[in-house]
Amino acid sequence: MEGPTYEIVGKVERYDERDNVFARECLEPGSPEEIEYHRRKPHLAQVDRALGGFIRAKRDTSAGGWEKAYYQGAFSPIAHLGLPDCVDGVPLSPGAGRSAGENSSIIKALALHLGADMVGIGPLKQEWVYSHRGVLPFFGEQRANPPLFEGMPRHYTGGRYGDPIVIEHPNAIAMAFAQDLDVMRAGPGEASDLEVGRVYARSALVAVQVARFIRTLGYSARAHHLRNYCVLVVPVAVDAGLGELARCGYMVSRRYGADTRLSCVTTDMPLAHDRPADIGIQDFCSKCLKCARTCPAGAIPTGGKVEVNGTLRWKVDAEKCLLYWEKAGAACMICQTVCPWSKPPTAFHRAVAWTAVNIPASRRALVALDDVFYGSRFKQGPRPAWVG
Ligand code: SF4
Ligand code: SF4
Repeated sequence: MEGPTYEIVGKVERYDERDNVFARECLEPGSPEEIEYHRRKPHLAQVDRALGGFIRAKRDTSAGGWEKAYYQGAFSPIAHLGLPDCVDGVPLSPGAGRSAGENSSIIKALALHLGADMVGIGPLKQEWVYSHRGVLPFFGEQRANPPLFEGMPRHYTGGRYGDPIVIEHPNAIAMAFAQDLDVMRAGPGEASDLEVGRVYARSALVAVQVARFIRTLGYSARAHHLRNYCVLVVPVAVDAGLGELARCGYMVSRRYGADTRLSCVTTDMPLAHDRPADIGIQDFCSKCLKCARTCPAGAIPTGGKVEVNGTLRWKVDAEKCLLYWEKAGAACMICQTVCPWSKPPTAFHRAVAWTAVNIPASRRALVALDDVFYGSRFKQGPRPAWVG
C-alpha cells in the first residue's frame, strides 16, 4: 500500500476556514465579519443564524448552572492553549542534529508518554492547509508579556479573521486521543460534552508541548488543535498512517475506531514518514451503514461517495448535524460510538479487528454480528456519578 485510501479525482482547492460550520456558527450577527461573509454568501445567512444558537447558548456566561458547568469546565481553558505564542514561536539555536529516523522515534515516544494514544508522521500536503483564518479567537491585539508570554511570534499567520494562512512545513506529526466509550454512550448530554472537552484539552496540551520541544531543538514547529487549527487534521492524520477517512466523516483507526480526537504538529524537523494505513475501511463502510442508520439528523449519507473539492468521499451534511446538536443541547457523538470499530482495545476486539482487516469476505458477517451483540440502534448508557 503506497498512498492513502482517499481518492483524488480532480483539483483540490485549499479549504477556507471561514466556510466551516464551526466558523459560521460563531459569526456575531451585525459584526463586520458576519456582514462581509454573508455579502459574499447570502444564501447561507439564514442557516448560519440558526447554527449560532448552539454555541451562543454554550458560551453565554451571563448565568451559570450545572448543565453549563460541564461544557465551560472542559472547553473554556483550551482557548488559552490556542494563543499564538503557545502554538507557535521562534526556534532556538540548533543543537546537534540527529537523523530523521532517530528524531521520529524520539518524538513518537515522547508524544505517547505525554498522553497521545496513537502517533504517526507523514508529509504535510499543501492542499490540507487552510487558505484563510475563520474561527475565533483572533489575536489582533496580542501583547508581549515576558518572560512567559512572548506575544505574536515572527512568521505567525492567520491572526485575524480572513487572514491568509501560510504553513510551509514539510512534515506533520499526527496524534489521536481516545475518548472513554462508556462516558460517550451516556450522551448526548453533559457527560459527553465534558468527555469531548477533556480529550480535546489533552490533545491541545500535548500538541503545544511537542511543538515547543521541537522549537527548543532549533526547528520550526507549530501546534494545531481545537482552538487553533491551520490544517485539516483528518486527511493529515490519514497521510500519517493513523487510519482512514470513513463514511461518518471521522478518521477510523484499527485500535479505537471513530472514537478519537485529533491534533497535530507541523514542522521542518527532519522526520521519517509512516506509511498510510489500509485497514479495509472503504470496503467495510460500503457494507456497513450503521452510523447513517442511527444518525438522528439524517446527516450521514446512505449512498455512495461523491466528488467534494476534487476528492471522492461520503459527504456528511455538517449543517444538519450541527442543527441537531442545538436541538439535543449538547454535542452528539452517536456516529462515533455506534461504529463497529469503536470498541475497547481488548484481546477479543483486537482479534475481531484483525479478521476485518485481513479477511475481506468476513466484513458483511461482522457488520451483522455487531448488530446482534451491541444492538442495531444507539442505546443511551447510564450517566456517570459525577453528572449531577
Ligand atoms: S454527530 Fe450525531 S448528528 Fe452529527 S453526524 Fe454524527 S450521529 Fe449525526
Ligand atoms: S459505522 Fe459503519 S459505515 Fe459508519 S463509519 Fe463506522 S464502519 Fe463505516
